[in-house]
Amino acid sequence: MSLASPSPLVDAFGRRISYVRLSVTDRCDLRCTYCMSEHQTFLPRKDLLSWEETLRLSRFLIGRGVERLRITGGEPLVRKGVLDFLRELGAEVHAGRLRELTLTTNGTLLKGAVPALVEAGVRRINVSCDTLKPDIYRRITRGGDLAKVLDGIDAAQTAGIKVKLNVVALQQDNRAELPDIIAFAHARGLAVSLIETMPMGDEIAGRETQFVSLKDVLLDLQSFWQVVPSTEATGGPARYYRVAETGGLLGLITPLSHNFCDTCNRVRVTCTGQLYMCLGQDDQVDLRGPLRDDAGEDRLNAALDEALRFKPRRHDFFIASDALPTRDGQPIHRPARTMSLTGG
Ligand code: SAM
Ligand code: SF4
Repeated sequence: MSLASPSPLVDAFGRRISYVRLSVTDRCDLRCTYCMSEHQTFLPRKDLLSWEETLRLSRFLIGRGVERLRITGGEPLVRKGVLDFLRELGAEVHAGRLRELTLTTNGTLLKGAVPALVEAGVRRINVSCDTLKPDIYRRITRGGDLAKVLDGIDAAQTAGIKVKLNVVALQQDNRAELPDIIAFAHARGLAVSLIETMPMGDEIAGRETQFVSLKDVLLDLQSFWQVVPSTEATGGPARYYRVAETGGLLGLITPLSHNFCDTCNRVRVTCTGQLYMCLGQDDQVDLRGPLRDDAGEDRLNAALDEALRFKPRRHDFFIASDALPTRDGQPIHRPARTMSLTGG
């Protein structure tokens, strides 16, 4: 199968961009404490790319050599029409133009979406779930029902879709439970990625005190398990390990470190058509204008080429304002947008 493009997306540091995370909504049926505020305000619908625009953009990106598309949000499954959109994108998978179509979801609406995902050729998904305790789940998500998520995971696995569990490590809410979550997941054939909390968007009360370094979590786990580095690499921010006792895969996503920037092959597009070249930077290029104003592709091509020029060598984050005021003489940066806007 040839996925070659006449003008592949190569940035100023020679990195080939082949992976796009595409957010289709900023809305969500949950309000995870580290992601959103309780009374989050959402964008007016007219600001969002329509499904037609999102599809056209996806096909355009595929034409420029993007091989993998991950649909995310907000919660992608809450937006009306998403299943039809996925089916349309599935045609790109079935025709061999798109190597992989994946989804990141909170899982609450997953069960009903599984047949459409199978039809669309989705072979693996990430489901976010930070605890297996219904009361703690309800607290972290401000009202979510854990049973729905577990049912959704079961339905996906029964349909042959591989599921990876995304777990944000939280000092108070789940640090002590992480070994149980990993053991539970591995016993069911689920890979697990632990994620360090990232300082996205507005200050969220308590997020800094919930921060736990995954280095420390790894030490915890290694005190009773053999957790050995694995050679799996995705060009993303995860480092992979095998847990000898469970046989399962464990990814550690530490976005505050720079271990993945040199091989970063990914960019993000928000639901309003803003292209972010780096999760940790606010620089963006507008794709919605070119999509809305120009029936052709000249302006889209120009916008992408401009964006490629400024994908930074690496990102810079900070959690607490007094933690790391500068790095290498450069001010360290808290991206202004939330994860629910950019997609995880
Ligand atoms: N709603 C979907 C979900 O929860 O999977 C997709 C979007 S969500 C923004 C994608 C991922 O980002 C989730 O795994 C979530 O836990 C993670 N996330 C959100 N805010 C975060 C933060 N501040 N730090 C680290 N991870 C975060
Ligand atoms: Fe919604 Fe996902 Fe953010 Fe939780 S992490 S509030 S599920 S978008």
